[in-house]
Amino acid sequence: MRPPSEWRSYFLPLTSGCSNNTCTFCNYYGAKIQTRELDDVKMEIDALATYVRRGIYLSGVPQIVYEIGRSWDGKRVFLQDGDALIYPLSRLREALDYLNKRFPDLERISTYATPQDILRRDQNELRGLKDLKLSIFYTGIESGDDKVLQKVGKGVKRQELVEAGKKAKEAGITLSVTVILGLGGVERSKEHALETAKILTEFDPHYVGALTLTLVPGTPLYEQWKQGQFYPISPFQSLEELNTIIENSNLTGCFFSSMHASNYFSVRGMLPQDKERMLTEIEAVLTTRDSSLLRPEFIRGL
Ligand code: SF4
Repeated sequence: MRPPSEWRSYFLPLTSGCSNNTCTFCNYYGAKIQTRELDDVKMEIDALATYVRRGIYLSGVPQIVYEIGRSWDGKRVFLQDGDALIYPLSRLREALDYLNKRFPDLERISTYATPQDILRRDQNELRGLKDLKLSIFYTGIESGDDKVLQKVGKGVKRQELVEAGKKAKEAGITLSVTVILGLGGVERSKEHALETAKILTEFDPHYVGALTLTLVPGTPLYEQWKQGQFYPISPFQSLEELNTIIENSNLTGCFFSSMHASNYFSVRGMLPQDKERMLTEIEAVLTTRDSSLLRPEFIRGL
């Protein structure tokens, strides 16, 4: 699991799973968080450095290290998995320091960061991580509507989300956030879209990725749908939500994208500059209701 924009990065696992495993739509629901031994992390970094510099393979190191290392440009690292920021702070600092020493030309290190992870850290700790080049957090906001957040088990209220966003930004960390179209179902579609626009305005992040809810078999939300307790919105309703979010948010310098494979329609641009053009593109589809303009269900991805 990684953000699409990290395709150039080397993926370094520090954890597996997610410590906040209560989100009812997520395939990490119920998964146990596991943290990797620091020595093991260092061994992978050493193997990567030896391979990248001298083409030498060290024994006992998974083949994947070399496969990714072969085409890696040495500039970016993405820490895995669902919330690597949960890795104990002293060990996280040591791992980052080690990475920087082995790869002094690194430009940036990034990670998924749950709002809870960010709130757990104080300003000095976050700044210290930024100094070690951990400079991008990918954070799931999902919705600005407290009722939706509570219903899907996000584990934080909107106010806590806003605090987490402010804290990361004050530490100079770039924020890339996701919101999920359709997360409130038919019942809360309007509130979900309007409140999401509001929270994005308060966050004012550098990047927003809009995803569309995909019901994943085995998750509680999927079961709720099967039992008639959750009514998903239609593809055109997801476009209406997207329209509402873009129209009602006031962002000051944000790259907004719905290019993710889960979406029925892709639009992207800088906000506020491209707002009118993006809304016109969406409205053109909403006016015709021509489903051939939408991504077919069978090629939608997670
Ligand atoms: S915090 Fe994110 S990764 Fe963790 S369970 Fe929720 S949606 Fe999934």
